[in-house]
Amino acid sequence: MSQPPHPRTSSTIPPILQQTSRLDSPENPEIMSSEEEVEVQHGKGVIWRDGYRIPLIRLRFNDVCDDGSSVILDSGLNLHDVLVEAVVGVLDTLYTPKTAPKNVRSVTLIIRNMEGVAYTTGMDIDDDHKEIHFSTDYIAGVNERSKGKQNKQEILGVIRHEMVHCFQYNAFGGANGGLIEGIADWVRYKAGFRPPHWHRGEGDEWDNGYERTAYFLLWLEEQYGPETVPRINGWMKNRQYSDKLFIDLFHEKPEDLFKKYKKWCEEHKEEDSSEACGAGAEEQSPSDGEEGSGKSSPQNANDGDDHSYVEVSEPHEDCSVSEVKLVARDRLCKLTYDGTGSFKRFLNSFEGLIEVLDSKMSEKERKLLLVTALKGNALSFLDNIDPEDELEFSEIKVILEANTSVTYKS
Ligand SMILES: [Zn+2]
Repeated sequence: MSQPPHPRTSSTIPPILQQTSRLDSPENPEIMSSEEEVEVQHGKGVIWRDGYRIPLIRLRFNDVCDDGSSVILDSGLNLHDVLVEAVVGVLDTLYTPKTAPKNVRSVTLIIRNMEGVAYTTGMDIDDDHKEIHFSTDYIAGVNERSKGKQNKQEILGVIRHEMVHCFQYNAFGGANGGLIEGIADWVRYKAGFRPPHWHRGEGDEWDNGYERTAYFLLWLEEQYGPETVPRINGWMKNRQYSDKLFIDLFHEKPEDLFKKYKKWCEEHKEEDSSEACGAGAEEQSPSDGEEGSGKSSPQNANDGDDHSYVEVSEPHEDCSVSEVKLVARDRLCKLTYDGTGSFKRFLNSFEGLIEVLDSKMSEKERKLLLVTALKGNALSFLDNIDPEDELEFSEIKVILEANTSVTYKS
C-alpha cells in the first residue's frame, strides 16, 4: 500500500509486460505473429489489445513458500496472459473501446495470506491504482478440497471477478453492493469460469449478490438484449445510486422483475441450469503459456461432478460476505471530507459503508468514525459544539449538513 505511483514511461514498463512489448516491436518483424494483437503505441510503452488500453500490471507474492502461492505457481497458468486477458475480457464485456474507462493506471495482483477469498481496492494515495488481494489460504483450501481439480478454474474465476471491480462503475461508491457483486459474477460466468456450486434460481431478493444476482442479470439480458448489463453499469457512471435505475432502463421495479425471473426459473426447473436462461455462456479462455500449459477449458466450469468441491460451497459464500466487508472497511478508512466538494455525497458514502460494515453499529462508534473521517475539519466542528453536549449521530448529521458550506470549507 505504500508504493508510490508508477509513472508510465518506456523505462518503467513492468517486466511482466516488457517481453511482450519487445516481441512486438517493429524492429523484430520476423518474430511478430500476424495474430499478435498487442502493439506498442507512440513508443511510450502503452500497450493495447483489441483496441483497449492495458494499464500497468504488477504482480506480488508476499510469501512464495506459502502453500497457496505454490498452488498458483504450480497451476500451469501463465499469469501474464491471465491478467491481460482478464483486463481485455472485462472491458470487452462491459464496454467498447470507445466507452471503456481510461482512468485505471495500474492493477497490482497481491497474493497473500489473509481471511476471505479476495478483494479489490484502490491505493491510499490514488484510487486509479488498483490492488487485487487474493488469499493464499483460500486457494490452498480449494486445492485440498477439490484435490487440485478446481485450482485453475477458481484462480481464473476469482481474478476475473476482481478485475471487474477495477473497471466497473459504482455510482460514486454508493451503488447497491449486491448489484456490484452480481455484475462481477455475471462477467465471470460469461467468461466461462462458473464454479460447480453455482445454480440458477437461488436467492430470495434480486440483490442477494454474487452468482444469485448474476443469474438474475443473465435472465434480464435474455429479456432485454445483450446490452443490458453494460447499460446497467453505464447508468452508474454519473449518477447517485437508486433503484430508479431499473425503472429508467426496464420500466419496472427490480423486485417485480425478480418475481418474473423466479417464476421463469420455476417453469424451467427441469432444464440444465448450466445453460442460464437459455443463453449459453460465451466461452473464452486465456491463452496458454509458452510452455503449452494446460488449457483452462470452459467445460471445467460446468463440471458439476466434483462433489468434494460442491460440498464446500457454504464457506465460499461466507467468505464472499467478508469480501464486501473488507472492501467497506478499506473504503471507510480512506474516506475523508476535506471541506470541499459535496458534503451530502460524502455523508451518503459514509452511511452506505457503515450499513455494509455493521448496520447495528452504535451511535457512539458512528460518531467517532464520522469525526475521524472529517480529519482536520473535525477540529472546527468540535469548536462549534458544546463538548458536554451528548448529541446523537443523527443530530450531528443535521448540524453538519446545515453548516458544511460555511463552517467546514478548508
Ligand atoms: Zn466482489
